[in-house]
Amino acid sequence: MINFTVGPVQSNDAVRAIGAEQVPYFRTAEFSELMLENETLIKKFAKSGEQSRVAFMTCSGSGGMETAIMNTLTPKDKAIVVNGGSFGERFVELLTLHEIPFTEIKLEPGKALKAEHLAPYENQGYTTFLVNKHETSTGVHYDINLISDFCKRNGLFLIVDTISTFLTDPFNMEELGADIMITGSQKALACPPGIAVMVFSPRALKRIEETKCKCQYLDLKLALKNQERGQTPWTPAVGILRQINVRLKQIDAEGGVEAEIARTAKLANYFRERIKDLPFEIVSESLSNAVTPLHPTTVSAYDIFLKIKDEYGMWICPNGGSMKDTIFRVGHIGYLTTADYDKLIAAFHDLKNKGFI
Ligand SMILES: *Cc1c(COP(=O)(O)O)cnc(C)c1O
Repeated sequence: MINFTVGPVQSNDAVRAIGAEQVPYFRTAEFSELMLENETLIKKFAKSGEQSRVAFMTCSGSGGMETAIMNTLTPKDKAIVVNGGSFGERFVELLTLHEIPFTEIKLEPGKALKAEHLAPYENQGYTTFLVNKHETSTGVHYDINLISDFCKRNGLFLIVDTISTFLTDPFNMEELGADIMITGSQKALACPPGIAVMVFSPRALKRIEETKCKCQYLDLKLALKNQERGQTPWTPAVGILRQINVRLKQIDAEGGVEAEIARTAKLANYFRERIKDLPFEIVSESLSNAVTPLHPTTVSAYDIFLKIKDEYGMWICPNGGSMKDTIFRVGHIGYLTTADYDKLIAAFHDLKNKGFI
């Protein structure tokens, strides 16, 4: 199978080799050193500045989203949340569950966030802004500079889910004034699922200090205290943290985050240029390098997903809910080459020749 989904994605050989090894005992100086190295490299790639800190939580990306809310927001906050699809909806559900007052900016699927959406909320006493930088469900990449300017003007605490775009599109956490950045091990980090990586600005660290987290397992005070010496309060996904270490060092050796973003952009452009004669429409107003969201004009998107899986041995990424039949996505993250895309494009052409699409 070739995997063109948006996570879990394909891992390279060095990462896979670690997966075949025994999982080592971790309360050691060696593991601490590896964890501190992970923190240094994540800060370097997130451009989060000297004073920022990192926590590695053993949970998926959604766990990172909930951890951010539980450790920094309270019912005294007044949040703005962008909801343009299923990941925006997840933030809405979390804010509701944790009783944080919020206003939702609801966007139609595929639509970009514009200045006019933010204008009504200037100087209205808001304290916090939450956004999925890339709404992976519809492939809309929001204008983070627009959001950053708005937050700076209004003094808002900014929580950014970069789960699908960390390492695929530029993100300068310190310059943007973002306070929390969240990503997951199974997206562009291209490791197995199981670790949420979170980066905190000094302002976020202060909020964490001042906020009572009503969950021991996800308490960031404990996580950050332990990470000072490269440890975690509980047994983490040790094997995945070792795989993340190998992957981060490789990226660093091969030109850093810029080179990795360029590599992903090249794959995305290669694919996008070669599907112009297929009966698919790109549905997003603003694309990330991470994924191409497509609307097939002749047949159900889900039926194409099934055909490609069952008859051609490849996974493209289906959509759920109301978008099941209208959108499928092709990812550009993970260990993929242009030769892999040639195979996928050939399969699409075969389906076209057979009159299926
Ligand atoms: C994948 C993803 C998540 C959720 O990640 P899980 O690891 O499935 O919990 C959250 N937000 C965005 C933008 C994502 O792409």
